[in-house]
Amino acid sequence: MSRAVGRSWGAAAVAVVAAATLVSCTGDERDEDGFRAGSVDLADPYVPGSGNGGYDVDHYRLAVRYDPADDRLTGRAEVTATATHGLSRFNLDLAGLDVSTVAVNGSPAQHQHDDGELTVTPGQGLAAGSRFTVEVAYAGVPEAVADGVLGDGGFQHTEDGAIALGQPHSAATWFPVNDHPSDKATYDIEVTVPDGLAALSNGVPGERSSADGWTTWRWAERSPMASYLTTLVIGDYRVETGSHDGKPLVTAVPSGLPATGPEARSLARTGEIADFLAGLFGPYPFEAYGGVVVTDERIGYALETQSRPVYGPGFFRRGEPNYSVVVHELAHQWFGNSVALASWRDIWLNEGFASYAEWLWEEHDGGATAQRNFERQYAVTNWSRRTLDPGAGQMFSSAVYQRGALTVHALRRTVGDDAFFEILRTWTSERRDGNATTDDFVALAERVSGRSLTPLFNAWLTGTTPPALPSD
Ligand SMILES: [Zn+2]
Repeated sequence: MSRAVGRSWGAAAVAVVAAATLVSCTGDERDEDGFRAGSVDLADPYVPGSGNGGYDVDHYRLAVRYDPADDRLTGRAEVTATATHGLSRFNLDLAGLDVSTVAVNGSPAQHQHDDGELTVTPGQGLAAGSRFTVEVAYAGVPEAVADGVLGDGGFQHTEDGAIALGQPHSAATWFPVNDHPSDKATYDIEVTVPDGLAALSNGVPGERSSADGWTTWRWAERSPMASYLTTLVIGDYRVETGSHDGKPLVTAVPSGLPATGPEARSLARTGEIADFLAGLFGPYPFEAYGGVVVTDERIGYALETQSRPVYGPGFFRRGEPNYSVVVHELAHQWFGNSVALASWRDIWLNEGFASYAEWLWEEHDGGATAQRNFERQYAVTNWSRRTLDPGAGQMFSSAVYQRGALTVHALRRTVGDDAFFEILRTWTSERRDGNATTDDFVALAERVSGRSLTPLFNAWLTGTTPPALPSD
């Protein structure tokens, strides 16, 4: 994620209420038959209530129909998952919307839906290790996320359609989901909208079909994806479908914006920028490329939605292309998307590297060197703010982004360029399509460089005084 220019980090953070209360896990009572309930919460203190335990989702098959005229969404979700222990019941996250039927493995299942939790009780328990399918039919007027750390998020009705977007929450506002990045899954997404409107989402575009005044757009994301990286953008867009490096490249800009405006010109360099990053980080990790620009003013940020980032209007106000934000969101395809977080406390693994990628691009593009950006940033850093585990209200603070980028550069200066880029490429290759933690990264950096780096990371990530500058 990156924030649009003109919004201060500090002000944004102040608006956030840190929600550190842990929701107690009620999932441990054991039923007589040996099955027990899945937990209703993964106990990630950054997102209390989000995510569920007891199963691991493999795939979501979503079919939603949305009519902007009455803001009504009708959905059917087929969730394929594997039970991680014997399950008597389990939960999915679903905010708002009304559930009409739920079936497990084709048989009707009891369900209860309160406070964003859909509790499903199958007719018979699910054995540990068994693969099962949950089908949920639901409908209603979707609700936006009012208390998002980022500001407005979730499914939002716009002038000409809708935008579903947001970090760390958004997915549960339009489909039942295990809403935590630690449970990645693949997706098939089918979106039916009135003829004439576009419906953009993640991954590879499929066949489009029309009937009775409605058009169905199909998308497939075959690489595991964290739920907050899903998106849906519906409206009057100029969609361009091309290819890059043998993979589809789909970009979309609102029809009201000029074809040669700063938005379209920024997106036009998506393939080139992805190639630049691939030269540093290793092969591009997904089967499609792209980007979507939106003009709704409530989207005061850009988000690295998988294979197809969404860019809010604030990045283009100067009337010039903004390549930095494209670099940032594309860098996340490696750092954050392909290698995803196991818990939100490690969010610097996403934002520190995406911010550092901006410095690398600036140097490549003839601007300031990464070293110069490092020096400037070092001079203005508030060392009392932690980079690792910054607190829920500080997830998008400069301690995560800028101090995170300082940490990355300090590592580079300490181990040298060869070891540094080998560390990055080893990380993106060994951890591809998975989840990882800060400890994992430190261990890998130590292994690749053959040096003890724990003191360095401690000083740069959590120390409260300016760390000694690495000398090379
Ligand atoms: Zn970011």
